[in-house]
Amino acid sequence: MKVKVVKLEELELRCSNCGSVIRYSPGDKTAVCPNCGTVNEIHYSDEKLERAWEEKDLLQELHKLSAQQLEREDKQVVKCSACGAEVEFDRPVISAECHYCGSPIVLSPDQIPRPIKPQGIVPFAITKKQAAEQYSQWARKRWFAPNKFRHYARAPRNLTALYMPYWTYDATTITRYRGQRGDYYYVTETYYENGEQKTRERREIRWTPVSGTVRVDFDDVLVPATQNVSYFPDADSFDLGEMKPYDARLLSGFYSEAYTVDLDKGFEIAKNIMDVSIRQEIRRDIGGDEQRINWYETKYSGLTYKHILLPVYHSVYKYKDKEYPFVINGQTGKVYGKYPISFWKILWVILLVLLIALLIYVGAEYNFDFVQFWHDLFGQAMILAPFSDFARIVV
Ligand SMILES: [Zn+2]
Ligand SMILES: [Zn+2]
Repeated sequence: MKVKVVKLEELELRCSNCGSVIRYSPGDKTAVCPNCGTVNEIHYSDEKLERAWEEKDLLQELHKLSAQQLEREDKQVVKCSACGAEVEFDRPVISAECHYCGSPIVLSPDQIPRPIKPQGIVPFAITKKQAAEQYSQWARKRWFAPNKFRHYARAPRNLTALYMPYWTYDATTITRYRGQRGDYYYVTETYYENGEQKTRERREIRWTPVSGTVRVDFDDVLVPATQNVSYFPDADSFDLGEMKPYDARLLSGFYSEAYTVDLDKGFEIAKNIMDVSIRQEIRRDIGGDEQRINWYETKYSGLTYKHILLPVYHSVYKYKDKEYPFVINGQTGKVYGKYPISFWKILWVILLVLLIALLIYVGAEYNFDFVQFWHDLFGQAMILAPFSDFARIVV
């Protein structure tokens, strides 16, 4: 693998007042100077905003890419503009922090070691502290998680802010299908019970062959373009309306990576996502009470894509040698994650349910007033008012 020293360019990352390297602040959506505190406002011309939204021709791009002999240079050496150190990265970073002095490092688009550069970026809208609060609130509602996990979640460690690379795909799809439409009808049948003749209704399905064509248009189907994170926020939890053009100032102080899932692989994933909606549309088109799809074929047209970066906080909780990754949407604070389940908590609930069932059974079977029994045993000090009401109704 080749190692290449990337020289940092001037990326408007200097504070307008003192010349220090500024950092993006999600709280107030500006670039703040950590040295003198000057707030450096970020504005965009309409033309620049439009560039973030530009839809690019997918087939043309795939054709162009297949003609190129691409050499992956994931390993990079970047010269830190603050301390001059040569910082080595094993992964294809777009932005990071200097391993030696902690200063933000951001690559310019042509330094990114991939042929397709990110065009848009949805900036972080919540701070790391707010993200941690969202996570602990989410964890508080995981009743069956071990207490140790809920304790950890009060102050999650190693929360990393990361702009994740995504592909978005647009498509017009025309799908021809053949299938069957099932309509319910009822027949009355006679049967005998204890020598007595009775009738009942029985449901039957009448299947009729159908065929047709459906059209579904897709706008911005989001596909993660990285395998670095095993867990992703739901695609529709992002508000792409907040998208800004690719800008070093928005990346400053945050880690971000170039894509590791290629444009064509991403499109295959997008097609699977589209397929779910297409099948739904076929079923709706068939109508009736039940539907069978025997065959269908989709033609895609108007294919375009965008390459964008989306904000995510992520970390991994380790418990008993197992890893439980979680992510927090850096725009909305929505949490997605895995968490351990406590065997003991589940066992206690099962035992409690069994005990209640047993008490109700015993009470009903032997006319045993266990509410009275409870009172006799514990006295008036422990009145289980709602519980005893419930027991009286049931028993
Ligand atoms: Zn300054
Ligand atoms: Zn440095």
